[in-house]
Amino acid sequence: MKTITTIAELTEAITTLKSTGKTIGFVPTMGALHQGHLSLIERCKNENDCCVVSIFVNPTQFNDRNDLLNYPRNFDKDAQLINAFCDIIFYPTAEEMYKKEETEIPFDFDFKGLDKVMEGKFRPNHFNGVVQIVSKLFKIVQADKAYFGEKDFQQVAIIKHMVQLLRIPVEVIACPIVREESGLALSSRNELLSVQERKIAANISRVLFESLNFVPQKSIVDLQSFVIEQINSISGLKVEYFEIVDGNNLQPITHWTNANNIVGCITVFCGKVRLIDNIRYK
Ligand code: AMP
Repeated sequence: MKTITTIAELTEAITTLKSTGKTIGFVPTMGALHQGHLSLIERCKNENDCCVVSIFVNPTQFNDRNDLLNYPRNFDKDAQLINAFCDIIFYPTAEEMYKKEETEIPFDFDFKGLDKVMEGKFRPNHFNGVVQIVSKLFKIVQADKAYFGEKDFQQVAIIKHMVQLLRIPVEVIACPIVREESGLALSSRNELLSVQERKIAANISRVLFESLNFVPQKSIVDLQSFVIEQINSISGLKVEYFEIVDGNNLQPITHWTNANNIVGCITVFCGKVRLIDNIRYK
């Protein structure tokens, strides 16, 4: 495994790989890696000749400066975890990735409304930053396949839309959510939870899984209320939103017959830590 920190050096390595006909798989991450990331990286290694992983805490996708400052970082531990599967770690600085002016104005992109709901509503310009960095990384890495986790359900939909709109020749592969034994979706942000909070946070997925039992008997509105009330009744948890949406266009639905692909997406504050999760209903 090789660590590369500059675009020039990565471009050179990619050019050499391409010239020898090697396939390239890519997993973009922000580090603080866990088994959820590793599931993507393992799959990437199995399906491609070369597995490239980027570790970059992207400043333009953080609307909250404290969230950016507090984001967990541990490069040495990350490198050790993925050593067996990753061929190249791309670990650039913010200065390497952005000219100053690029970080000052939100990246302009036509999201076709995908950014107006859920995360987009509560984290203004978050997806502008995501598309800005991922499109940049895609241009450099020139991967055949790129791997994303369904934990960030809205992100996957937006990346698929971006690839189509910008005609980037990469196959975007969505991978299932990896959970702790307690059901809690693995997340770098879980590192910020106390032992007690981690136990409390497991109730998010517990309630989501329980809600599966009420489909389709309960209406969408009633199921939404059920999930929100159950989670809010637990001391230490506060739901920011829970939306039941058409998984294709992310728009809220009103009846179970409205779509064939239905997903419930949730964001919950556990103390000060913002956690996201989702569940497929159909
Ligand atoms: P992040 O480092 O949080 O930007 O995540 C990098 C990639 O790992 C994204 O595509 C995430 O969706 C994915 N990921 C994060 N947590 C999980 C998880 N628990 N299961 C599967 N994929 C995940």
